Amino acid sequence: MTIEQVIRKIQEYNPEADIALIERAYEFAKSAHEGQIRKTGDPYIIHPLHTAFTLAQIKADIPTIVAGLLHDVPEDTSRTLEEVKENFGEEIANLVAGITKLSNIKYRGEERYKESLRKMFLAMAEDLRVILIKFADRLHNLRTLEGVDSKKRQRICRETLEIYAPIAGLLGVWSLKWQMEDICFKYLYPEEYQDLEYKYEIERRAELNQYINKLKIILDSELSKSGIEHKIEGRFKHLYSIWQKMKNKDRKFDEVYDVFALRVIVPTVADCYNVLGIIHSIWRPNYNRFKDYIAVPKPNGYRSLHTTVFGPEGKSAEFQIRTQEMHDEAQYGISAHAHYKSQMNEKTDRPLRWIQEILEAQKDSSDTAEFIQTVKLDVFKDRIFVFTPKGDVYDLPRGSTPIDFAYAVHTEVGNKCSQAIVNSKNYPLDHELKNGDMVEILLEKNRKSPNHDWLKFVKTRKAKDRIRQYSRRFRLGQIKNIIPGFKDN
Ligand code: MN
Repeated sequence: MTIEQVIRKIQEYNPEADIALIERAYEFAKSAHEGQIRKTGDPYIIHPLHTAFTLAQIKADIPTIVAGLLHDVPEDTSRTLEEVKENFGEEIANLVAGITKLSNIKYRGEERYKESLRKMFLAMAEDLRVILIKFADRLHNLRTLEGVDSKKRQRICRETLEIYAPIAGLLGVWSLKWQMEDICFKYLYPEEYQDLEYKYEIERRAELNQYINKLKIILDSELSKSGIEHKIEGRFKHLYSIWQKMKNKDRKFDEVYDVFALRVIVPTVADCYNVLGIIHSIWRPNYNRFKDYIAVPKPNGYRSLHTTVFGPEGKSAEFQIRTQEMHDEAQYGISAHAHYKSQMNEKTDRPLRWIQEILEAQKDSSDTAEFIQTVKLDVFKDRIFVFTPKGDVYDLPRGSTPIDFAYAVHTEVGNKCSQAIVNSKNYPLDHELKNGDMVEILLEKNRKSPNHDWLKFVKTRKAKDRIRQYSRRFRLGQIKNIIPGFKDN
């Protein structure tokens, strides 16, 4: 891997990129890591180069790629974060600082694991791009695991499968998620991996390839006849996802039939539907397996038309039809969103919308609930995370106070709140909470109602409503005492 390769990759999607800046970052990182050797025996600079290349593959913006080149400088060299800031400015320094914070995350059993997740959330709250850099960094570390002892290797893989991959999925960075998963699958379940790889790669791949080619040739000629500009790609499912499918549905490999799909990429949404019509006119569709994710996108924002047809020899074949933008979004997730947004100067924040939809869709799944809660925050710049002493996370609007927190925990905790301890110190109830604060609320058991004056400083709707409700009920109670027969409707 060379800096020229990284630059060429960037220029594919961003011809106006500031190449001088990239080169300067490369020289800075190279001299900082001078003399350092990776466990694989390579000079250290290879690692930040790979990280930057992966970021360019997912069409990350320039500050993210520069930070990718510099990401291990403050942690592993004598050059400081301050120097990074002097040379590359605050935005890039902040990204590098985010990575440095994250590098302390280790998998050390259940407790630590949760702690890690929490740090991950906090980093995301500040800048989602930090997570993208971390994924790229992790991917290269996974690719060079051969140089690491087996115990540490296991730990890194487990941590990746349990923390990184699910987050990559949530953010829609599928291409990185799949790559990370397959590497971890190989190390954590070597027998299952080899078994599946053998069946997939050796027994069926050639046969499937032939079949895919046959479909491609037929469709290509029909689409050319109707003058629709198009690209057709055959795509195999990655091994880990097939394995998951076999496990979850208790099937043998031969029974997992959707191991490949053909992707048709066309210029416009109208073309997508035209192509669908053409495919259905060539082969008989299996209507049970038709999905219009353009009209109704998946909760994570995924858009495409999916149809499965009875192809030649009566074998089923899946087609996924989409525009280039939909394709990039499906591959690179939040990273591609940012790219298209800056390109088109869109005002609407699509990532925001689809993350909100994920939240809606997954409201009830308790195991990821904590994580989901926080994903909301990372894009909502005006939100903060606050922790209970037990480690539960609550998200609140910026400017929230211990009273808002108390009501977020439970109405009764709010109603009976008497003191707030923030990071082990006593604070007044109107104290403004900050991201990452740990808050403990002391209750006054005999208190009957919240203090009406709290309305002057609380921020959340819930706190306001509860306090008002109480005051209203309280006043109504008084009126009832004074006017017998008064009815509250
Ligand atoms: Mn690194």
